[in-house]
Amino acid sequence: MPPDQIIKEANLAGVEKMISIGTSIKDNEDVISLSDKYACVFHTVGIYPHDDLDHEVPDLKEILIKQINKSGKAVGIGECGIDVTNWKGGRSLEDQEALFEMQIKLAKEYRLPLVIHNRNGDAPVFKLLNDTGVEWLRGVSHCFSSSWETAEKFLDLGFYLSFSGNTTYPSAKSLREVVKKVPLEMFILETDSPYLPPQEHRGKINYPKYVKIVAEEVAQVKQKSLEEIEKFSYENTCRLFNLL
Ligand SMILES: [Zn+2]
Repeated sequence: MPPDQIIKEANLAGVEKMISIGTSIKDNEDVISLSDKYACVFHTVGIYPHDDLDHEVPDLKEILIKQINKSGKAVGIGECGIDVTNWKGGRSLEDQEALFEMQIKLAKEYRLPLVIHNRNGDAPVFKLLNDTGVEWLRGVSHCFSSSWETAEKFLDLGFYLSFSGNTTYPSAKSLREVVKKVPLEMFILETDSPYLPPQEHRGKINYPKYVKIVAEEVAQVKQKSLEEIEKFSYENTCRLFNLL
């Protein structure tokens, strides 16, 4: 589906604003162009733990700084973080830490919230977030899928939790416990599209318009009305990313 139609369908489903997430030098350029073209689209810039392997961290820092300043619509740094999986030919944990640390510092310097990707990286993620000092540090743990214990650590740092289509999966019982417990002021909703479609679209491409299905699930789990969940999700997102 072309971007025009994806955005139009999202708007029709009630999605007023979108933040398109950068994960590599090339992706960052794509989301910058998208936000230049559409008033309702904002973007982040970031380097995913296993992207742009042929660049050293100082080079990536220079490129990110240029990209932050390019559109005037960069609202966050990420996604960045730690990904410890059997990724073939990816960065070592040590290199991932150096890359993440650079992006944490950049977020603080530019007063931009971090969009954190965390897969099996609790220990290094919290160590790095704490070691760089917390005098100005904001952000979100995106596609949250860990335990309540981990959720509390993020909330203690003032970080938001972001829920996506995987909250609708039958196996996601412990995740729904986190959804139930998170304060209404501390969650946001996302799709992670084109990945992680909600249960009813599983195996297919995910789209921004399906964020409504995530909202319906969260409303049901938290025993709130859909309108209330939409309102909190919208206001929390605008507050975190300073959207006007
Ligand atoms: Zn991610």
